[in-house]
Amino acid sequence: MDHFNYRDGVLCAEGVPLSRIAEQVGTPVYVYSTATLSRHFGLFQQALDWTDHLVCFAVKANSNLAVLKLMGDLGAGMDVVSGGEYARARAAGVPGSRIVFSGVGKTRAEMRQAIEGGIRQFNIESEPEMRILSEIAASMGAEVPIAIRVNPDVDAKTHEKIATGKSENKFGIPIAKSREVYAEAAKLPGLKVVGVDVHIGSQLTDLGPYRQAYAKIAELTGVLRADGHRITRLDLGGGLGIPYRRDNNAPPLPIEYGQVIRDTVGHLNCEIEIEPGRNIVGNAGVLLSQVIYVKHGEGRDFLIVDAAMNDLLRPAMYGAHHDIVPVIEPGSDNDYQPFDVVGPVCESGDTFQKGTSLPVMADGDLIAFRSAGAYGAVMASEYNSRPLVPEVLVSGDQFAVIRARPTYEEMLSRDSIPEWL
Ligand SMILES: *Cc1c(COP(=O)(O)O)cnc(C)c1O
Repeated sequence: MDHFNYRDGVLCAEGVPLSRIAEQVGTPVYVYSTATLSRHFGLFQQALDWTDHLVCFAVKANSNLAVLKLMGDLGAGMDVVSGGEYARARAAGVPGSRIVFSGVGKTRAEMRQAIEGGIRQFNIESEPEMRILSEIAASMGAEVPIAIRVNPDVDAKTHEKIATGKSENKFGIPIAKSREVYAEAAKLPGLKVVGVDVHIGSQLTDLGPYRQAYAKIAELTGVLRADGHRITRLDLGGGLGIPYRRDNNAPPLPIEYGQVIRDTVGHLNCEIEIEPGRNIVGNAGVLLSQVIYVKHGEGRDFLIVDAAMNDLLRPAMYGAHHDIVPVIEPGSDNDYQPFDVVGPVCESGDTFQKGTSLPVMADGDLIAFRSAGAYGAVMASEYNSRPLVPEVLVSGDQFAVIRARPTYEEMLSRDSIPEWL
């Protein structure tokens, strides 16, 4: 459920008509709903209310400071994958004690930054990384909590670009090798083993792979404890999928996911961490765009809109689908026709949908790409020198620009021409 609905014939974000945002902020623009964000976060809290837990929002899904502040104020921890994300989480007021640091390529500088600023735990992805972290922590006189990310070799049955739990993926340490790595970790200075970490992929629409992976983690936890490690925390990753099509079978609910966690690892008496991103923010956002031209092509009509692949990359990158809806609610007597919805960028890949049925449209009409709150704005670029897409946050009948569209002057001022040129 989200808070984007038609009211008096206009698509609204909570109490705010999207047409008003388009008028005041311009298009393209991302629009997020605080009520939806809060609701989705609450569902994960509820799903784990049977145990000690921390829901760590995956910052990479949407890293706007206002979104992070909202999450942090609700009690969320943060899962970060870079020094930049760490800085964002801290700037949004989240204490280091609620931040976990994931990612396969943490640099020494990022490790130092997080140790200095405070960190709940590092999720270790390889032996070289573990040794470097040990060296750095010891040199700083610190003892940092770590979990080791194990790769359970489970097929998450999702898009290959976002599957991370198979042995051929770059993530984590093979589960068969993990005992050896934990043994080494226990001996290294500067590190304190606290848990086991796993994340098998994103946009999972079936609980089966979770069940398989978490059962392996439970077994491994028993083995590691028998080896003498104090495993008190399990970080079970993120990845629960969302419905991208209104008419589709909905993926499992957080409460059902929570039950799988309880069934598989509930008996271990560990504190549970999860790292949902997409499920919290995906359907809490839309990308609002305006039709520039309706172009009649050969055998097809193109809807050329002012949003492009640089603003919303998922369709070009993963062939992803986003429902497109008109901002003005179609009446029962509206005529529909198929459109190829495309952006202005000079690449054929800048196509959002082909042959999608929409009400007959004209220049200036507004549309919204649904389910665009996750992996939308964060992946945006200024390709074709299109200004970075702005973001708006709605709460009830108020809204605020939480990232402004840069002016050309601001864009150009980031470059410099050397004096010898
Ligand atoms: C991407 C990622 C997540 C979040 O995945 P979602 O599908 O957005 O829930 C969580 N943990 C790690 C380690 C990730 O890489």
